[in-house]
Amino acid sequence: MLKKFLKEVITIVVGKQAEGIVELLISERYVNEFLIAKKMDLTINQTRNILYKISDYGLVSSTRKKDKKKGWYTYSWKIEILKSLLFLRNDLIKKISQINNQINSRETKQFYVCERCNIEINEENAMLYDFTCKECGDIFVLKNNEKFLKDIRRNLSRLNRELGLIDEEIEKQRIKMDKKKMRELKKQEKIKSAARKKASAIRKATKKKSAKKVVKDKSSKKTKSVVKVKKPVKKKLIKKKVVKKKLSKKVKKPVKKKGKK
Ligand SMILES: [Zn+2]
Repeated sequence: MLKKFLKEVITIVVGKQAEGIVELLISERYVNEFLIAKKMDLTINQTRNILYKISDYGLVSSTRKKDKKKGWYTYSWKIEILKSLLFLRNDLIKKISQINNQINSRETKQFYVCERCNIEINEENAMLYDFTCKECGDIFVLKNNEKFLKDIRRNLSRLNRELGLIDEEIEKQRIKMDKKKMRELKKQEKIKSAARKKASAIRKATKKKSAKKVVKDKSSKKTKSVVKVKKPVKKKLIKKKVVKKKLSKKVKKPVKKKGKK
């Protein structure tokens, strides 16, 4: 389903003939543009033209590498899946809104046709021409909108279903991205905590050395700092006790006012 949606995006942005590029760009890694050209059986310039068109909409990202021998840059690309899905969603919402307008217009206005010329005309213009076809002189007939409305409503419900599926896919991608972010955060956290452990191990080692070399002052300072950390905890405990006492007296309202001040 995801590939189908991404192909739709490429079809809108570049054209149906380029939709095959999705198969190559959907990779987790960046794909070298020469490889894309080769696999799509296109020249490098044709390939780049396609990629630049997609890039204009911000739906692909790239990295570049300098070729040390030749001195030029080659680019690698991948598709921005979430952005592409949001692009498709926007496009679909526009279409749905257009169809709703059409339905509204068909339901509220009358249209006329010349059955001979198969020309359709709205009521204002029909009146302007005195309900007579300019081409053949036949009289206009009031158009029966039933079939048109039936078809267009069917189209609307198909687009609405597709919108639902795109929303599901967007949700999946968001979850995937969140998980990826979480994994990266955990990774960084691991690195940090490893660094912290290392640092504290070094500190401990240096402490042992300095402890051997005397000095009671340092150890007394350390106990002071420990007490400082504990103090707020004690305060909290006291507060809780006070609240309990006050509650037991059942004089709730005045207590709350005092607390705010
Ligand atoms: Zn006619």
